[in-house]
Amino acid sequence: MSLNFEFSGEHEGVRDTIRRLCQDELAALVSDAEENEQFPKHVFKRWGELGLLGVRYPEADGGSGLDKISDCIVREELSYMSQAFASTWSAHTHLGIWPIWKAGTAEQKARFLQPALAGEKVAGFGLSEPDGGSNVRAMKTRAERVTGGWRLNGSKLYITNAPFADFLLVAARTKSDLKPESISLFIVELPNKGFDISKLKKEGIRASETALIHIDNAFVPDDCLLGEMEGTYPVILDSLSENRVGVAANALGMARAAFDAAVNYADERIVAGKRVGQYQAIGHKLADMSAQIEATRWLVYYGAWRVDQGTLDAATAARVKLVASETAVAVSEQAIRIFGGAGIMREFPVGRIHRDALVYVIGEGTSEVQRNIIARSLGFKS
Ligand SMILES: Cc1cc2nc3c(=O)[nH]c(=O)nc-3n(C[C@H](O)[C@H](O)[C@H](O)COP(=O)(O)OP(=O)(O)OC[C@H]3O[C@@H](n4cnc5c(N)ncnc54)[C@H](O)[C@@H]3O)c2cc1C
Repeated sequence: MSLNFEFSGEHEGVRDTIRRLCQDELAALVSDAEENEQFPKHVFKRWGELGLLGVRYPEADGGSGLDKISDCIVREELSYMSQAFASTWSAHTHLGIWPIWKAGTAEQKARFLQPALAGEKVAGFGLSEPDGGSNVRAMKTRAERVTGGWRLNGSKLYITNAPFADFLLVAARTKSDLKPESISLFIVELPNKGFDISKLKKEGIRASETALIHIDNAFVPDDCLLGEMEGTYPVILDSLSENRVGVAANALGMARAAFDAAVNYADERIVAGKRVGQYQAIGHKLADMSAQIEATRWLVYYGAWRVDQGTLDAATAARVKLVASETAVAVSEQAIRIFGGAGIMREFPVGRIHRDALVYVIGEGTSEVQRNIIARSLGFKS
């Protein structure tokens, strides 16, 4: 094994592309989207044209044929601009389609994965339920066999992209027991008569659209059972592990954005004749923030490298996600303190970044759940 602490030329190229897109086209859309709590769906087409939706998928499947490190670079830069845009991207490019790439039939890949990678169809992922968030195994949504397909009944809570998605991957039990083996995934094209989707109002990632879904006797044809097989819970677990590294890269982007804003403010703001960064108390805060970000950066890209090596395990993914998401919360909180009263004003970005960062100590498995996974790997099951 060799240690290389440099990004390749290809990785730097990916960073340039996404940075330019953010600066030249997307940044101008963010404040309206946040204010209206509405994602500009047309952006998907542009992401598709630039190959940014299929970064980590093979070219043979319609992707860009790059790697997880590149995927994390895109996430980091999108989140640096707006976590709401990055969350929308992530729910689509990972949660909504990774299982199709991993376990879908050739027909399902042609029908759903390829148009999703091109930005022609938008995806989302319905796993969480009112009584089954951290405890996925408590999932109640049921799928019953009927002629030609399945009837789904139940509910899904906090589902990103659902208000405008073209299809959702929906987890449901195909047997009446409570075993994980009875959990399967269905590709549900929207609109579906049995899906009642209500958009929720949020404090964080406001421009990302999130919904509560009531599922009432929704018909899903046989060919929309993922992989045309029951019992795809292991695919969900693998997908979540990889995505924990992904959202850690998102958290890194948020932490960097809050830090850069704080450095600029500490440089410009004069109090009692001094730039506030010259006060040792503020300088030390900035020093701690920069050290936390540097440590997080290398942990995140180590996680991405493990994905690329095919050696990521659940405990490593949990460590990466735990550290990065808590860093984003801590750094953005310190940034607000450095801004003083201005940190509470909407005119400056740090308040928004902090609200957004809090979403990621909860979503994709809370910090407590990550600690449970890590403790379990050490032999301590709670
Ligand atoms: C903005 C947003 C977008 C989301 N998008 C999606 C999506 O697209 N698709 C999807 O399926 N889900 C999505 N989620 C759901 C998310 O994954 C859940 O919110 C998360 O898993 C936590 O579940 P919960 O909200 O039910 O919290 P709960 O499970 O009710 O947890 C409440 C508290 O109890 C703690 N707790 C629970 N169990 C344990 C335990 N065993 N040990 C220690 N502490 C515990 C938790 O850590 C937390 O502090 C989204 C959530 C948010 C906020």
